[in-house]
Amino acid sequence: MKNEIKFWGGEELPLELHKVRVVQKLHLVPVERRLEAIAAGGFNTFKLSTPDVFLDMLTDSGTNAMSDDQLSAMFRADDAYAGSQSFERLHGAVREVLGKELLLPVHQGRAAEHIICRTFVRPGDVVPMNYHFTTFYAHAVEQGGGIEELLCDGALDIHSENPFKGNMDIAKLEECIARNGAGKIAFVRMEASTNLIGGQPFSMANLREVRRVADRHGLMLVLDASLIGENAYLIKKREPEWHDAQIRAILHEMTSMADIVYFSARKLSSSRGGGICTDNKDLYLKMEVLVPLFEGFLTYGGISTREMEAMAVGLFETLDETAISQSPQFIGYMVGELMQRGIPCVTPAGVLGCHVDAREFCSHIAPEQYPAGALAAAFYIASGVRGMERGTLSNARDTEGREVPADVELLRLAIPRRVLTLSQIRYAIDRLAWLWENRSLIGGLRFTYEPAVLRFFMGSLEPVGDWPHRLARRFREDFGESL
Ligand SMILES: *Cc1c(COP(=O)(O)O)cnc(C)c1O
Repeated sequence: MKNEIKFWGGEELPLELHKVRVVQKLHLVPVERRLEAIAAGGFNTFKLSTPDVFLDMLTDSGTNAMSDDQLSAMFRADDAYAGSQSFERLHGAVREVLGKELLLPVHQGRAAEHIICRTFVRPGDVVPMNYHFTTFYAHAVEQGGGIEELLCDGALDIHSENPFKGNMDIAKLEECIARNGAGKIAFVRMEASTNLIGGQPFSMANLREVRRVADRHGLMLVLDASLIGENAYLIKKREPEWHDAQIRAILHEMTSMADIVYFSARKLSSSRGGGICTDNKDLYLKMEVLVPLFEGFLTYGGISTREMEAMAVGLFETLDETAISQSPQFIGYMVGELMQRGIPCVTPAGVLGCHVDAREFCSHIAPEQYPAGALAAAFYIASGVRGMERGTLSNARDTEGREVPADVELLRLAIPRRVLTLSQIRYAIDRLAWLWENRSLIGGLRFTYEPAVLRFFMGSLEPVGDWPHRLARRFREDFGESL
């Protein structure tokens, strides 16, 4: 993706349109310590601690930088249990930015999924969607429901020119409804910027088609808006009809098509918390009863009043193109540089992060030995950079206890908004290039402790063979004293 700001020398570089005013010291520990740390963490990057992590590219969840406006808003928080003015301000921001009248606050995105699934998914129901997200899937299954993923053809091709790989296949949606019967469809779910397949957006035209089909069958449309800002930005960049539109108009058009919109503010507004919003009072009332039970009173929903203030300002910042373009532009740069070095990444570059194709990177490792998990561990050893496995390890086993090989095996290197500088991104590129040269040294992983639900979070693994030591030794040979 080209940057809007042209360099006289012709370079194409992303440019930080903010300045750094508060800093946090980072620690780049030696490779020997990195090896110890990842072993102690069961070769699971979720179990590393900050003092051992140089660049934290695990996720954008709650790790985006807050703005001065967000921080200052936190000081005027109204700590009332009921009737808090902080909630009123948040509610106002939701009306303005997401264009929905009613808001239920929840403590984070998965809490919204819990309440939506508990209210609308009955045993045996199906939720058709463009693609699943781990926590949504777990909540649908928890209610006795299932999901069907109806991605467009080619959506899972790693290298592609398709600007909207997050689109739903409309013929598959029709077929899914015909096969299950509309009575068995809890609702249709669309996820903005499909997280698990590389942060790939859907188009406005596609969302309109989905709405049309849902209308014809009397079905509800639920929009996961956690990454809606960046999806809106890519609609503006990639869908000609919207080139000249304001982000606000694009957001409103998107949300107007959904009966229910939910979001994780950890992504959407660089804060904490989450929300469920709708214009439909009946739907609102059905969900409302669960909020005091699971989250907290209706004017805070488990979110601190300070966070609600930050959330409100963060929502408004979603309307600012210089804010929401930051992460996609850095991702575009990183993907371009890696591809030039022959390192396979998901293209076109999407949102959230750079997604490295672990299936090709570690083509010698079988899916049951978790190539993406192994790559995440190996990259940490090589760099101190923490990424996240998004592959078979993140999948649940089937009802017979068998592994379900993932559609795509990805190492996700998240680029949180306004957090990393260009030289840090270049460091990550350099170390990944070194690892690519030495990829034959990477070996597989196997579980030593495998939790039954969402195993990737807290599971422990061990290497198959002694490859982590060999990798660390090779690093020492090549880099000498350097960290
Ligand atoms: C992160 C995320 C969620 C879950 O939100 P949490 O705040 O982490 O619970 C749901 N959907 C999508 C698309 C996400 O990226």
